[in-house]
Amino acid sequence: MSIKKIIVLLLVLLGLGAGALYWYKAHKAAVSPKTILAFLGAPGSGKGTLAKKAVGTLGFVSVSTGDLCRAEVASGSEKGKKIAEYMKGGLVPDEVITDMLDGWLKDHAGKAPIIIDGYPRTKEQAEKLATLLQQKFSDYVFGVVYLFVSDEEEVVQRIADRLVCEKCKGVFSRKQLKDATVCPTCGGKLIRRDDDREEIVRARLKTFAKNNDEILAYYKSAGIPIEIINVSHSTPEDIFATFTALLNVYTKAQSIAA
Ligand code: AMP
Repeated sequence: MSIKKIIVLLLVLLGLGAGALYWYKAHKAAVSPKTILAFLGAPGSGKGTLAKKAVGTLGFVSVSTGDLCRAEVASGSEKGKKIAEYMKGGLVPDEVITDMLDGWLKDHAGKAPIIIDGYPRTKEQAEKLATLLQQKFSDYVFGVVYLFVSDEEEVVQRIADRLVCEKCKGVFSRKQLKDATVCPTCGGKLIRRDDDREEIVRARLKTFAKNNDEILAYYKSAGIPIEIINVSHSTPEDIFATFTALLNVYTKAQSIAA
């Protein structure tokens, strides 16, 4: 290759690098740290995957109330033992879960925009969150991103196939990993969550649909922005691109107190 071609190639690469850096910075800086987004979506709709990408690429921090519950159970505390019992039967009571979320927000709020994954799960929780936001985060922007599943079967099959790393919480597909037993990212143990069994998934989807309708109705009546992304037959990259594109809604939105 001639020197001229090498120089042109280097300039092109430099231009692409600068463009990528500009894009990254523009998106990272786009959302104020005083932003809280609640991700709604059926089990297996990809809330956790999208949240992880937003944390890694867009500078968000995220909290999963399911992970908070599992961490408490793993700690072996008295509270954890009670939570483990609740988890077997369905949802953890609103006060217990709201209290855990409140504690997490106290420690993390204000440093980066926040994604809440897995809360609210009932209309009562949506109301409790509204009270919490009004009392402690009135200068924040709050919005809802709903990952809508139009093809339920796809989700049931995906969940039945999923493995979770005990250590880094990474989610993997059993088929893709070809029956590996350790996490390809951190070497942690891969497990199948108890509640990922097909019959349990179907019951969870039913509960989700009923509660979610009530939550959406509540947010609509409260005038909270709800952004809907149809996640069926979409790759995580497609979903992330749609999410990134709609973030400007939250840069323009007014604070909770306004
Ligand atoms: P997840 O990882 O989000 O699927 O949550 C796992 C389990 O944790 C759920 O099946 C519930 O038992 C419990 N849990 C997580 N988030 C909530 C919530 N917002 N309200 C009540 N229970 C929850």
